[in-house]
Amino acid sequence: MRKPLIAGNWKMNLNHLEAIALVQKLAFALNDKDFDKVEVAVLPPFTDMRSVQTLVDGDKLRIVYGAQDISQHDGGAYTGEVSGAMLAKLGCTFVTVGHSERREYHNEDDELVNAKVRAAYRHSITPILCVGEGLPVRQAGGQVAYSVSQLDAALRKITPEQAKSIVVAYEPVWAIGTGEVATPQDAQEVCGALRGRLAELYDAEVAAAVRILYGGSVKSGNIAGIMAQPDVDGALVGGASIDAGEYVKICRFGE
Ligand code: PEP
Repeated sequence: MRKPLIAGNWKMNLNHLEAIALVQKLAFALNDKDFDKVEVAVLPPFTDMRSVQTLVDGDKLRIVYGAQDISQHDGGAYTGEVSGAMLAKLGCTFVTVGHSERREYHNEDDELVNAKVRAAYRHSITPILCVGEGLPVRQAGGQVAYSVSQLDAALRKITPEQAKSIVVAYEPVWAIGTGEVATPQDAQEVCGALRGRLAELYDAEVAAAVRILYGGSVKSGNIAGIMAQPDVDGALVGGASIDAGEYVKICRFGE
């Protein structure tokens, strides 16, 4: 069985003191026995990571954390970059790779996304690989082919053993930060196709193991319908993840 994952992409929000306050609120609100059925992750900016690690380790919190980016390189003269080794040392479980904001504002192409996926695996960090089409592609009905081609490119040279642990996030660009959420059926269409493609690229075992998330304007009011889809195993949440009350409700699938 795939354990649902809710991951909060804080983007470039919250300093380290605000990060501590938010994680404390989340940990307090999500600390009941039942809560083992969902994995809850936060993805803070790099500058918050050490503070989050200290809090999670010190209080043995059930929240896991990860980074929003990783260098394709393992170290050296790459000013401004942060390596997988550094993230692993900080206890990061996840790293987002291929987020549309990085593809768009930092010109990250499929080749670089693949290099970053491989860098994550070199350091035993689980990539949350983001794929998804923009509005013109959706309007032309090309969402499945587009998202599948991004998946293909990102998984080049990734072994079946590695692929089994990847998290894929289907994030239609037109739904990110716009308030315009995909319908549960839209999410299922592409998530189902991505799982089908994993079975073709690898095998049924890999396809059945991989968690596929939906991301794009997820809120407490729309999470339940999204989670009811058979190929959706959780959500990548942006804006709503920095509001403790709202994020807790999302982690409880809107209840
Ligand atoms: C995201 O940043 O991955 C995202 C899905 O953002 P939002 O929830 O704000 O649309």
